[in-house]
Amino acid sequence: MSTDVSRQTYPFSLPPLPYAYEALEPHVDATTMRLHHDKHHQTYVTKLNEAVATEAALHSKTLADLLRDLDKLPEAIRAAVRNNGGGHLLHDVFWNCMSGQPAREPGGALAAAIRTAFGSFADFRKKFTDASAKHFASGWVTLAHDPHSGALEIVDLKDHETVIPRGMNHLLILDVWEHAYYVKYQNRRPEFIEAFWNVVNWEYAERRFGQ
Ligand code: MN
Repeated sequence: MSTDVSRQTYPFSLPPLPYAYEALEPHVDATTMRLHHDKHHQTYVTKLNEAVATEAALHSKTLADLLRDLDKLPEAIRAAVRNNGGGHLLHDVFWNCMSGQPAREPGGALAAAIRTAFGSFADFRKKFTDASAKHFASGWVTLAHDPHSGALEIVDLKDHETVIPRGMNHLLILDVWEHAYYVKYQNRRPEFIEAFWNVVNWEYAERRFGQ
């Protein structure tokens, strides 16, 4: 399993993609992956480092620590850490929750938990698809897990919000910002969502669920 950026401390860094840029073709195209990872994600990392650079007291905090306690951050950098730190964490999960050789459905304990929470895998997929299609403007949809209660929940996130302040973890995540799909799909977000289901790395989601 690749390194989880939630445990990084300042200076934060962009890990390489866990597969080739063209690995998700034809569902997610190589041009989009290059722009999205090398330009968009790198910019979030760069701006996060700029925001935290002068705050030496924060240099020992992990990315998860910073995002969990946003309210305790100096007001001057709070929005920058929320936006760029959230962007760093969410994109890292997003890259890892896709694969060129995916299983069609989750297995093991996660499959059972999805049936308990949503009735069936098909019902879960429909609910996640609907939330992704209906999301207004920039943001994310995630399958989130509360490790204390065991609850699974589909959460709609604005901009680069995360579920970290709610004490939850991201298991599966979909970027519905236009930059995630516009090169190949233009305004046809529903086609991008359908394509996403062909590349979901369920083994990664299962590992996160087990942690
Ligand atoms: Mn993005």
